[in-house]
Amino acid sequence: MRRKLVAGNWKMHGNHKANAELLAGIAAARPFGCDVAVCVPFPYLSETAVALAGTDLRWGAQDCSAHEQGAYTGEVSVGMLAEFGCRYVIVGHSERRQYHHESDQLVADKAKAALARGVTPIVCVGETLAERDTGQTEVVVKRQLSAVIHTLGHCAGEMVVAYEPVWAIGTGRTATPEQAQAVHAVLRAQLQAATAHAATMKILYGGSVKPDNAATLFAQPDIDGGLIGGASLKAADFVAICRAAG
Ligand code: PEP
Repeated sequence: MRRKLVAGNWKMHGNHKANAELLAGIAAARPFGCDVAVCVPFPYLSETAVALAGTDLRWGAQDCSAHEQGAYTGEVSVGMLAEFGCRYVIVGHSERRQYHHESDQLVADKAKAALARGVTPIVCVGETLAERDTGQTEVVVKRQLSAVIHTLGHCAGEMVVAYEPVWAIGTGRTATPEQAQAVHAVLRAQLQAATAHAATMKILYGGSVKPDNAATLFAQPDIDGGLIGGASLKAADFVAICRAAG
């Protein structure tokens, strides 16, 4: 049985006061029956590490460089994230693919850089609405995941995958549990063909997960938790989603 993971993606939100309240609210609701993490903006990693020290809550970042160090102005290496105690780093979020033109290969290289430093990449894949409407969902998510599988090689079993249909992110329009499960099953099969660890790997669903739809999504056999955007910014909502996971 796979233990579920609920990871918050704060995106570019937060300030010292709001962060402290949010983290305290989540910490006060422990224990959870699932793994729980928050992926925060880089400048808030330090205070998050302090706030969550001594708890079983984990934290991480929302992106990383594929490079170890060097003349890459504005980038942040995984080694730096590791120094702040990050357990996870999100790579390939659709907002990075869309606004920063990140290619499948760059996302794969970031995932590899993360694992090389012992940080677990949460690798996002997902189709746009136009791709879904033209029947390309499977081709797109398999292409995105394939680049990562090939780049990670024998380490592929160590990543977390997140299926995030682009049309469901921040739109209030969630994939139905059946739609999500169908894609998760495709991804699980792809992982099965590539690694002996597919049965224990976590595949998260992300896209307008809220307290009122989380339980039915998480009840699907191949959905192992969620990557949560908007609802991770309110302690009560995030805690309710964590409770729905276990
Ligand atoms: C996300 O940004 O990863 C996400 C799933 O956002 P939301 O939950 O707001 O749709």
